[in-house]
Amino acid sequence: MTPFPREDYADLNRYDPGRSPVAVDLSDNTNLWGPHPAALARMRAATPDDLRTYPELYADTLRVAVSERFGVAPECVTTGAGSDDVLDSAFRAAYGAGQTVAYPAPTFSMVGDLARMSGMVPRPVPWQEALDNPRALLAGDPAVVYLCRPNNPTGAQLPEEWVERLLGLRGEDGPLVVLDEAYADFAGETLLGWAPKHPKLLVTRTCSKAYGLAGLRCGFGVGTSEVVTEVDKSRGPYKVARLATELAVVAVRDEDAWVARTTAECVANRERLRQEIEARGLAQLPSSGNFILVAAPSGTAAEDARALREASVQVRPFTQVPDLGEALRVTVGPWPLMERFLEALDSRMAAFREVVSR
Ligand SMILES: *Cc1c(COP(=O)(O)O)cnc(C)c1O
Repeated sequence: MTPFPREDYADLNRYDPGRSPVAVDLSDNTNLWGPHPAALARMRAATPDDLRTYPELYADTLRVAVSERFGVAPECVTTGAGSDDVLDSAFRAAYGAGQTVAYPAPTFSMVGDLARMSGMVPRPVPWQEALDNPRALLAGDPAVVYLCRPNNPTGAQLPEEWVERLLGLRGEDGPLVVLDEAYADFAGETLLGWAPKHPKLLVTRTCSKAYGLAGLRCGFGVGTSEVVTEVDKSRGPYKVARLATELAVVAVRDEDAWVARTTAECVANRERLRQEIEARGLAQLPSSGNFILVAAPSGTAAEDARALREASVQVRPFTQVPDLGEALRVTVGPWPLMERFLEALDSRMAAFREVVSR
């Protein structure tokens, strides 16, 4: 008899990032400049058939748009209902009984869950250990190595030479390497072009961050046509809604350069926020994403986040971050929102100082 519930699901829970509606939400790295305006216009022009009929089996229109935008063949593009779905499909496609998903940690909090969802075992390798020796990620023959570049939540950019070295260290039957580029727009640098040339490399992208379309649930991945076929088999047909396909195409083409403009402003504000944090004497990590991880002023991230929440500013608390310990992750947005954050931070620092000096 097959046991229900699955034993390997015992450690798995429904995802709960501890978020609730708030005036200034800087907790999930979505685009605070809004949705892509041309995509919103396309949505407003929806036709009855956008809803009545099934979407394309494998979102081929989007595959072509990605192909044109990034200079890869359409056969090298897979798609999904969010890049989480692309990751999920890729993990399932690479599944090996009892095998692991290895990754430098800390990283994207969904990855351990996605590994378990696919029946595999997450194997975090401490960030610095992986950086010093990429071989550490290959120990125990993982089915998948997951890399996040730029990394969420630290903002670190894995060096290009390091990624190249890791790819080269794999033997012929080595793991699938999944390179998550959810934040590549903000780094101004990508390895997406490598994916069609490297066996068993999948680079994933999302429409949820720079494109401002998190509500759409759309993402894509690039790899060799062999990798893409296997991921598509695991993904199944009709995963990307008809409107999602159409709107994602508009954002990927970005004919009015809205993504380019808001991304540039975000990068400028990231530097400005970095200076403001530095001026307050708080430790922070250099970031290539649309967020900054800053040391919790009181030393307890959950309490600082709660205090900021009372001032209607939501950030995401983290613990045990290398070089920082307890920390807050702040999404970078238009400057008035950053001012709201800095005001809330200043009040928290002042209140905490008062408590300590008493
Ligand atoms: C936000 C994020 C994603 C996006 O996931 P979607 O399912 O496309 O919304 C993927 N990877 C990382 C590291 C992220 O932070």
